[in-house]
Amino acid sequence: MERCLDCNSLLTKEETVCVECGTKVGGDAAGGGDVAGSAQFLASIVSALFYVSALAMCASPFVDKLPSFMFCMLITSALLFVMRTAKDNTQKLRKK
Ligand SMILES: [Zn+2]
Repeated sequence: MERCLDCNSLLTKEETVCVECGTKVGGDAAGGGDVAGSAQFLASIVSALFYVSALAMCASPFVDKLPSFMFCMLITSALLFVMRTAKDNTQKLRKK
């Protein structure tokens, strides 16, 4: 059995939010922060990939082993799009 930190009402273990006052209960309180953190981690990976593909795009006309310029441009713009949406998501999570 757990108790709400705010209003001290009894809660079942399955309940993560207090039914009385709506306060988050238990060790899952940091869960929201973890989500924002992992989103940020993902965003940093995507931005790293973005720079790699942008570099590949610049180098592709000169290096035969690299994929074609158009392919790199496609990947770069796709990553740019993902980067933007990921940023939006982290900002939305922080507002909560
Ligand atoms: Zn409560």
